[in-house]
Amino acid sequence: MQLMNVIKDNLAFVQQRIASACQKAGRETDAVKLLLATKTVSAENIKVALAAGANLIGENKVQELKEKDAELRETGVDRHFIGHLQTNKIKDVLKYVSCIQSVDRLDLVQKLDARLQSEGRSVDIMIQINTSFEASKFGIHPDEALTLLEAAARYDTLNIKGLMTIGLFDADPERIRPSFRLLRQISQHAMDAGILPADARELCMGMSGDLETAISEGATMVRVGTAVFGKRLYPDSYYWKE
Ligand SMILES: *Cc1c(COP(=O)(O)O)cnc(C)c1O
Repeated sequence: MQLMNVIKDNLAFVQQRIASACQKAGRETDAVKLLLATKTVSAENIKVALAAGANLIGENKVQELKEKDAELRETGVDRHFIGHLQTNKIKDVLKYVSCIQSVDRLDLVQKLDARLQSEGRSVDIMIQINTSFEASKFGIHPDEALTLLEAAARYDTLNIKGLMTIGLFDADPERIRPSFRLLRQISQHAMDAGILPADARELCMGMSGDLETAISEGATMVRVGTAVFGKRLYPDSYYWKE
């Protein structure tokens, strides 16, 4: 009971943070979607957030999608994949998600297409870019992003929705800002060059600690875990590997 209320209150507070960041940036409040990053969170606790108005979640591991599927499928919640995707998990991940945000290499693009062709369907994707230049993080190098986008755009099975990044890890938002700005610039550049379709405007960036900065740099979707569900047991780098 207690935890239920904590999740609800936290969610309301995050929604408030998003609204005031939008206001500050002169953007409409509904210009930014909230995705709840639910790694390690039980289906039961996810359902508390759904009952309180959340409608989009992201998972990092195919195994967790699978474990929570029976309970979550019936809610109709929209699920995205936000973790590192190994090609041998493609078939499984496609059973659960509407969007794969972490597409970051050509061989993944090709293998996704092959699987989708055999299923006669398509899936939404985002291209994940490593805007912090940290070797430990996933995402394609910014210099190679346009080439990957161009390649992905050739496949009818992949509906490109936009770009995703994790950004620099730092307590100081001003040191994180260049990561978010870079993502927006790459998006703009790709649109100007006609590589990104005009409707692929999604900029998925910003987490619990830096969502205000991301929104001021144009985020259309933020991914929030800790600020709603509390601290996790393991460091994030653990979940970023499949
Ligand atoms: C866990 C995670 C988040 C959310 O991070 P918090 O700091 O808990 O809000 C966002 N994006 C990705 C890819 C994640 O793995």
